[in-house]
Amino acid sequence: MKVLVLNSGSSSIKFQLFAVATWRAIAAGAVSRIGEDEGEVSYRWTDPQGHSRTDETRLPIPNHRDGIERIVAGLQAGGVLADLSELAAIGHRVVHGGERFQRPTLVDDAVVEAIRDMIPLAPLHNPANLDGIEVARTLFPGVPSVAVFDTAFHQTMPSTAYRYAIPEYLYLKHRVRRYGFHGTSHQYVGERAAAVLGKPFDRCNLITLHLGNGASATAIRAGRSIDTSMGMTPLEGLVMGTRCGDLDPAILFYTAEQLGLDNQALDDLLNRQSGLLGLCGVNDMREIHRLAAEGDDRAELAIAITARRIRKYIGAYYAELGRVDAIVFTGGIGENDAEVRHRACAGLENLGIALDDSANLSADRGERAISAAHSQVKILVIPTNEELAIARQALAAVGGG
Ligand code: ADP
Repeated sequence: MKVLVLNSGSSSIKFQLFAVATWRAIAAGAVSRIGEDEGEVSYRWTDPQGHSRTDETRLPIPNHRDGIERIVAGLQAGGVLADLSELAAIGHRVVHGGERFQRPTLVDDAVVEAIRDMIPLAPLHNPANLDGIEVARTLFPGVPSVAVFDTAFHQTMPSTAYRYAIPEYLYLKHRVRRYGFHGTSHQYVGERAAAVLGKPFDRCNLITLHLGNGASATAIRAGRSIDTSMGMTPLEGLVMGTRCGDLDPAILFYTAEQLGLDNQALDDLLNRQSGLLGLCGVNDMREIHRLAAEGDDRAELAIAITARRIRKYIGAYYAELGRVDAIVFTGGIGENDAEVRHRACAGLENLGIALDDSANLSADRGERAISAAHSQVKILVIPTNEELAIARQALAAVGGG
């Protein structure tokens, strides 16, 4: 049996196909630039003889239906999916599940309507996610679709963490509260961290740091999210590639007035022109390190602000949790950037948090501990794998696994 994972965005669909027996990804790729004059379909797969193969085709892909048809046709042509009946489930990444969805959910008409109802909360993401689901249900009516929500893991947060100190009707009537995102990743690395610690997840207190283009921190008590840095939208919290993270909300009125900006322009300013990009003109952390090494002060400041914000959240979540078994780094920056990890943990020795510098700097990949032997709190690097987590949760939701 196999599980297909689809991550449908507005102009692209990423996919991975997993073999349930081994949980290995036997094919992966993306359809991109949907709706443009020239689109692209790219595949990596392992053929039945065990050889790695790749393929790239450029052609117009008018819509999501065409994109998903091409993905499945390519999997069949590559010999990794002989027949649709091999698919136990299709797992769909869905960004916003609001308060309604607390776990991966088998899709039926009512679930489709509920995801549609969440569109005002995630106007950029949920429509595209929904497109993927509706197309898959139409094209492959015999294969169950499962929606796996970025917000679901955080639904265990108490109201003291998820409510904002603004008038109550905004929550009751307009659903304004903290939801949190990256939940699939925080849960996955949390469970892996528990395995590395040799403790059941439901006995672990963790601070998980997902640091990629988007970035968020989560406080996990006894295996449940009790606080997270992203809020009603993914804009709140840590400094990100192009998002500002925490901000004095009055900056919005001030900037709107001074620069004559409308809502759309403000949204663009804070979601796409801010963060690392806003601070130093570049949003790729590797490039920022190169610039800083050449003496670029703005790049140095961008790294310092990023690391300081992470350290602040570690301190805040330490205080919330009281006892912390491990701090977990993941995402492109969390997994690879020893400098940011070093700065984020610097000066926390009195909290029992101490890095082992050579383990931190080592070129090792994979799941590993990078804390000093005397560190009371373990510091772990755990590569995230959201697609694998979605595949496993999708299979579990249809009663397999
Ligand atoms: P996304 O959130 O888009 O999935 P990733 O998790 O892949 O993003 O993270 C992308 C970020 O990780 C980029 O800022 C990139 O520069 C950074 N990154 C990747 N590899 C390294 C590395 N070796 N050192 C520092 N930063 C890295």
